[in-house]
Amino acid sequence: MEHLTILLDDVKNGHRLSEDEALELFRVQNRHIWEIAAAADEIREERVGNAVTYVRNQNINVTNLCVNACGFCGFSKKPGDEGIYFHDKTEIQKKVALAKERRVTEICTVSGLHPDFTAQSYTDVYRWIHEAAPDIHIHASNPMEVAYAAKKSGMSTVEVLEAMKEAGLNSMCGTAAEILVDSVRNKICRQKIPAKEWVRIITEAHGLGIPTTATIMYGHCETDQDRVKHLAILRDIQDETSGFTEFVPLSFIHMNTPLYKAGEARAGATGREDLLMVAVGRLFLDNFRNIQVSWVKEGIKMAQLGLIAGANDLGGTVYEESISKGAGATNTDYLDPAEMQRVAEDIGRTLRRRTTLYELA
Ligand code: SF4
Repeated sequence: MEHLTILLDDVKNGHRLSEDEALELFRVQNRHIWEIAAAADEIREERVGNAVTYVRNQNINVTNLCVNACGFCGFSKKPGDEGIYFHDKTEIQKKVALAKERRVTEICTVSGLHPDFTAQSYTDVYRWIHEAAPDIHIHASNPMEVAYAAKKSGMSTVEVLEAMKEAGLNSMCGTAAEILVDSVRNKICRQKIPAKEWVRIITEAHGLGIPTTATIMYGHCETDQDRVKHLAILRDIQDETSGFTEFVPLSFIHMNTPLYKAGEARAGATGREDLLMVAVGRLFLDNFRNIQVSWVKEGIKMAQLGLIAGANDLGGTVYEESISKGAGATNTDYLDPAEMQRVAEDIGRTLRRRTTLYELA
């Protein structure tokens, strides 16, 4: 694999990977994956140093009732289902009070698309959070929620984003991206916004000074080409806006999802694929500082390996998690920073707490 060694050396010397070259890396199936991981790890060290970062965060899922029926989702409920919830102002502010006690610095709210929601439903929630904890960073919504709010309220997506920002939204989740290729989206989440609209809304958010994360959900029915196409879209946006705070690969949790049960998706990504998603992500996304590895999706052991394959961030403490749990994952509710520290020190690195925007605390 002399060719691979030359390619990785070129990348370390500043060569920007082409889509074909990224595809070639995703297809490596033998011990040479370690060379890719090692190159990504070197670049990580050069770009962001040796700290392993995390944020003290807490999720608030406002409702699990949703008008959509994405095939990969084991979280949402339909009217008439058991276990539907909707948290009102009192309940949300109770959760925020608990977050304050836990010294949380970031609250994430992502929910189902409630049939009665309008743009104001979202801005109300951000106001309630902000009122109860003005110092906590609100990391919320995503392009799908923005598009839904805009449609329900007869507003443009820019108007919705402006209203959300005004209500206290500090940064937006880059979820609902899944795979930014419409042929895949038509299979896994037909009712979701098309790739072009996701890109437009993310770009609008960046233009309004609302930073976002960038995600990919992989390991279901997408091809290696689809993954590369997705990464290329993210890299192009970042070239234009510099508005992404980090790249977060989300490994598909398959167990309770309609897509898997119908035989239309694989049983999630393999360990090789998880490792390569982080490593190729680091090598390809040369304009991203931070690559996060999700312990919620991958488990802490695989997440630790991701930290020596290009990732520099472990995400958050989480505290309450329902999305991956709904899809069949276990142990997703809370990860103690003491355990994060053990994992970081075991690979000779130091754990550092950060803010949502990656300022070290
Ligand atoms: S992924 Fe989101 S939009 Fe899709 S069904 Fe689940 S909650 Fe609804």
